Amino acid sequence: MSADFTYTKIREKLDKGTSAVDITKEALKNLKEDKCNAFVNIFEESALAQAKKADEMIKTKKQTPLTGIPIAIKDNICYKDHITTSSSLILKDFSSPFSATVVKKMLDLGAVIIGTTNCDEFAMGGSTENSCYGVTTNPHDKTRVSGGSSGGSAAAVASFAVPLSLGSDTGGSVRQPASFCGVVGLKPTYGSVSRNGLMMLSSSLDVIGQFGHTVSDVELFFSAIAQKKSDEMDMTTEKHTYKKGKETKKIGVPKSFIQKAKKETIENFNKIIENFKNDGYEIIDIDLPISSEAVAIYYVIQPAEASSNLARFDGIRYGNKKSGENLLEDYIKTRGSFFGEEIKRRITVGTYVLSSGYYDAYYNKAQLARQALTDELNKIFQEVDVILTPTTLTTAFEIGSKQNPVDMYEEDKFTVIANLSGVPAISVPMGKHQKLPLGVQCIARHNNEDILFNYGKKIEQYGRGK
Ligand code: GLN
Repeated sequence: MSADFTYTKIREKLDKGTSAVDITKEALKNLKEDKCNAFVNIFEESALAQAKKADEMIKTKKQTPLTGIPIAIKDNICYKDHITTSSSLILKDFSSPFSATVVKKMLDLGAVIIGTTNCDEFAMGGSTENSCYGVTTNPHDKTRVSGGSSGGSAAAVASFAVPLSLGSDTGGSVRQPASFCGVVGLKPTYGSVSRNGLMMLSSSLDVIGQFGHTVSDVELFFSAIAQKKSDEMDMTTEKHTYKKGKETKKIGVPKSFIQKAKKETIENFNKIIENFKNDGYEIIDIDLPISSEAVAIYYVIQPAEASSNLARFDGIRYGNKKSGENLLEDYIKTRGSFFGEEIKRRITVGTYVLSSGYYDAYYNKAQLARQALTDELNKIFQEVDVILTPTTLTTAFEIGSKQNPVDMYEEDKFTVIANLSGVPAISVPMGKHQKLPLGVQCIARHNNEDILFNYGKKIEQYGRGK
């Protein structure tokens, strides 16, 4: 694999006459040589056919910025007549009968969808260890995780197998692996990218996110697939409008909120803040008392929604089935044998917090707290352009080191607030500790991705020591 396999270099080659078919062949070779277990399915035949179409588009001057670019998608985004499994045994060998809106868009723009990437089962987890295909290792150190749940998509870009990839972010699943693997990961505004064809996890939190090597690559990718009008197949989408020109150079830094991060993370983070200060930005110390409880709020709402969404996997409508003596036994055997441990845990918690007698005490209370958290952030955004935090507590952890589920949940401390409130957030590399990447998270108001990209580009320069 070559470190030249980036969006800019590939675009240059295509512009100078290299064919999309040749680029696709190089990408296919990368996928076959993948050492991180980042890929679960390779779409050789359809990728080469799509590359021919891309070459035709280039020849007839109908090309777009994505034409001829090989892109990987997370294994929970449907592509007609291709295997999509959410890395779960319950969907092993499931071939999707339709394509997601984003997939259709990418194909129309001439992008080459090259294969699917590994993830935590049904996107629940923070390490890709909960996958039926085994863990995706970190390209920087194979004893460590790539993060999750979109670990395969992050590792695919970090190892230069593909220049761009798609993930999904419900509580941090794009930003956390981006941080662990040293690439850029965007969780866009809720509703800005259609989720029609994304296997639903938690409907009020899920969003399709983008990975790339640079902020500009991610900006370009996001702009290409964001909804220009609402998608009739996804009622939660809205027309994505940039609101330009409101920057005040004011940055909110929640000092006490981030104090759980490790020393090395804080040191790197402080360097970035220093750089902003030297460039004339105003750093405002902000308090986030409600957001400090975000993990507790998230781990009531997320499992509640997941338990409802996953009810459809019963062996009757989709996927694998184990038969019993009657319908109830069919359900029990199918779900009992094909769902992994973490999925069962979430379904159990989710069903419990929604059950009569506990609904008010847990689910309703969490919804009220979620609204209070959103109000807290909105109030702060009246004063600042962005909120900066580290993306994760520290660098990628060792495979198998988080056996207690609550330890894994705590890893989501800084990321879940953006999902609970629906606002956009980006993770940008900010340097390394002992050769392992660290990321800084930048959070902005609804539909203010342009501000995120501006700040992200600055962070990128500072992170490289400029
Ligand atoms: N780690 C979080 C969870 O397990 C986030 C998952 C995600 O964003 N898909 O729920």
